Amino acid sequence: MCYAIPAKLVAIEGDKGIVDYFGEQRKVLLDLDDVKIGDYIFAQGGVMVRKIPEDEAQEILKTWKDIFFELKKTDEVMSKINTENMPENALAILQKINLRQMIKKDEMHTLLELTDPNELKVLYEIANHVRQREHGNASCVHGIIEFSNYCAGNCHYCGIRHDKNIPRYRMSIDEIIAAAKDAVDTHGFKALVLQSGEDYWYDDEKLITIVKAVRKLGTLVFVSCGSRSKETYKKLYEAGARAALMRFETSNPDVFATLRPGTTLADRIQLIKYLKEIGYVIATGFIIGLPGTTTDDLVNDILLTKVLSPDMYSFGPLIPTEDTPLASTSMVTKDLVLKTIAVSRFVDSNSNILVTTALETLDVEGRKEGLLAGANSLMLNITPMQYRKLYAIYDGKVTDNQEVTQSIQDTVDLLYSLGRAPTDIGFSCNTNTEGETNE
Ligand code: SF4
Repeated sequence: MCYAIPAKLVAIEGDKGIVDYFGEQRKVLLDLDDVKIGDYIFAQGGVMVRKIPEDEAQEILKTWKDIFFELKKTDEVMSKINTENMPENALAILQKINLRQMIKKDEMHTLLELTDPNELKVLYEIANHVRQREHGNASCVHGIIEFSNYCAGNCHYCGIRHDKNIPRYRMSIDEIIAAAKDAVDTHGFKALVLQSGEDYWYDDEKLITIVKAVRKLGTLVFVSCGSRSKETYKKLYEAGARAALMRFETSNPDVFATLRPGTTLADRIQLIKYLKEIGYVIATGFIIGLPGTTTDDLVNDILLTKVLSPDMYSFGPLIPTEDTPLASTSMVTKDLVLKTIAVSRFVDSNSNILVTTALETLDVEGRKEGLLAGANSLMLNITPMQYRKLYAIYDGKVTDNQEVTQSIQDTVDLLYSLGRAPTDIGFSCNTNTEGETNE
């Protein structure tokens, strides 16, 4: 499977390039290879991944051409909204969004507290409409390799926290590289997330070796290995990592300090900002439903994510996990997650929003519903099967038993049924100006 579409480089502006695929243009970072106008490249999440020979590119484009326009049409039809019987308040929000005005904090609060099924339906439809307006039918699918479940951290919500007595594993450097090679060569992934607990057995030297080798495979390397030092992240960037996944978990500093003992929200935020400064493509976000948080906190979580100007929003529900301090916390509803996706789409219309596996764990239709409530990105678990169950950050993870080929097929079927195409190549060439603040 080739889960990306080649794009032709049509202009170069400094370290950025304008690429074109089927008449649509996007901006990408070109810093990884020597390229010239007219070359064909693969790009993911705004970063050039590798150059490809023209004949190979033409061959792939030929197979995509018909299906691309068909998918586009399906998406356009599915994201149309009927304003005829729309409630007044929903119409007012739609008008604001169409004028690219920010919705205010109290409006976000109201939307996050909606419970009426008809109102929720309209909310999700508008969010899906905005997603289509900003991104077309572009979606991205990243593979994730969970390479170690050792963790020095002791977060109260986490199933691999240091104090939990579970079987631990560490993949060797060779195993990680082999898993990445299989993902790229066999399954066609163009973006891989390398994730672990805070496991300092992997020192800078080991991490650099892994990042360099995976980058060489011709893929975007996302790192997600916890609160390492700024120097470590700098070295990983120099080794070829271009994206980092780091959630701040909650915008409430007291809840953060209670649930992540020995760490502070301020330090976490500073590190995320530093990653951005280095040049990383950033994915960040929070956990929905942590005890002690309110709807106001959720509003602040969304706004803090926006302030950090990530390339991707990543948030999921708290799923209570056995033998953790939060084992008896109540589960949040699927609708609260969908409402959070929709409101995030209104607040930051141009962002990529990930549907996390945790939503699918809440409800078997979760991924589909998330994509129809404003989200446009997915991650597939491609951790080797013998380790998959052991990375149990929460109970009942749905991807535990699914073979990679099957989950790719299911994902492709799902995306096609919604008219989505794997064209998350880069950033829109139109810059939107948001009008108001959220106060
Ligand atoms: S959330 Fe991250 S840092 Fe905290 S215990 Fe889990 S893996 Fe470790």
